[in-house]
Amino acid sequence: LKVFKLMKVAGAYWRGDHRNEQLQRIYGTAWAKKEDLVAYLHMLEEAEKRDHRRLGKQYDLFHMQDEAPGLVFWHPKGWAIWQEIEQYMRAVYRNNGYQEVRCPQILDKSLWEKSGHWEHYKDNMFTTASENRDYAVKPMNCPGHVQVFNSDLRSYRELPLRYGEFGSCHRNEPTGALHGLMRVRGFVQDDGHIFCTEDQIESEVTAFNALVKKVYADFGFNDVAVKLALRPDGRVGSDEVWDKAEDALRQGLRASGLEWTELPGEGAFYGPKIEFHIKDAIGRSWQCGTMQVDFSMPGRLGAEYVAGNDERKVPVMLHRAILGSLERFIGILIEHFAGAFPTWLAPVQVKVLPISDKYLDYAGKVLEDLKEAGIRAEIDSRAEKIGYKIREAQGQKIPYMLIAGAKEEEAGLVSVRSRFAGDEGQRSLEQFIADIKEEIASRVNRPVTVETKENK
Ligand code: ZN
Repeated sequence: LKVFKLMKVAGAYWRGDHRNEQLQRIYGTAWAKKEDLVAYLHMLEEAEKRDHRRLGKQYDLFHMQDEAPGLVFWHPKGWAIWQEIEQYMRAVYRNNGYQEVRCPQILDKSLWEKSGHWEHYKDNMFTTASENRDYAVKPMNCPGHVQVFNSDLRSYRELPLRYGEFGSCHRNEPTGALHGLMRVRGFVQDDGHIFCTEDQIESEVTAFNALVKKVYADFGFNDVAVKLALRPDGRVGSDEVWDKAEDALRQGLRASGLEWTELPGEGAFYGPKIEFHIKDAIGRSWQCGTMQVDFSMPGRLGAEYVAGNDERKVPVMLHRAILGSLERFIGILIEHFAGAFPTWLAPVQVKVLPISDKYLDYAGKVLEDLKEAGIRAEIDSRAEKIGYKIREAQGQKIPYMLIAGAKEEEAGLVSVRSRFAGDEGQRSLEQFIADIKEEIASRVNRPVTVETKENK
């Protein structure tokens, strides 16, 4: 070993038995090249600083507690981020031919038996009973969407039929596996299912690939790796069907001009899937999006449509998500931005800072106008020194501070300080509102050009 670093020591009993002698366990990391070691250590240090559990507390976004293992209590600021993302994704559904639906949280056991979940997934499901009937809390949204599809006789003319849901799911993960927002028991997916014919798979996959890329770019992720998970050993369906499904996904990827790596044996039991992995600011990769072809579930749950020749056919079902779990995606965002969200996502976009009590009225009016314009704004009306208020707002990574004092009130202006460029001078409030609204609408992430103690 040449390039290595010892990380920590810990006591350990011989063979894990406390009646045995205590030994020293030494942890280390070894690399082929010095620069790789340096980069790895830097990444660990950064990851520790950005830990979303720590920042979640520091910025008052959410908390978790013992009475609800793996479940999240969202605080007003964390929920503001959530709402912004949900509204954004709702527009993505609307503008890309999806119809939003909402299905029940709890469904009869018999439905889960038909879908195959009871047999394959029972240990991960929360169950309940009432009036001698057994139920399960949904771990996935797909069976619900099939019920909506089945509620009417469908014609080939209606296909592709795309349903989207902010689907709330619960999975009984072991408590030892839980990790902040990254691994939870209750989560909401930006889930969608497309019912289509075999001929429509390729064009649906191509359209989805373009959509995924656009959405990730809007959140500031431009480095996306694509993987194709192929047939596993324990699977349903014939080899012929699997050939067709895998080829359809390859065709879609090719048509999108994407490069991908293939993962033999890693597909779901019902079909192959494309995985989208995004790279965060410190080089870590996170799988978020997925597109899966399923020739099995629609048939099991009795979905069918009337084809051109009046024949009844079973549609293909495409399972797709872009962000994955919203909880986990917000965890990734917190760590990616280290709490310094771009203006469109920031829980508080503007903080109004009156220089002293004399200007509380003017500052209050500024706040009112901001709120009326739909901007998330707060006021710091404490009798503290202005320098202290500025430092605190900077520490909270608030994008804009508007300072209100004598000069500003007289001229009907505001003094703008930003997290990005420091002192931006005076502007009319009207102009500031127009500027920030444009910044929010275009979802730009303004780069930081000044280094202060807080943003370093
Ligand atoms: Zn699904």
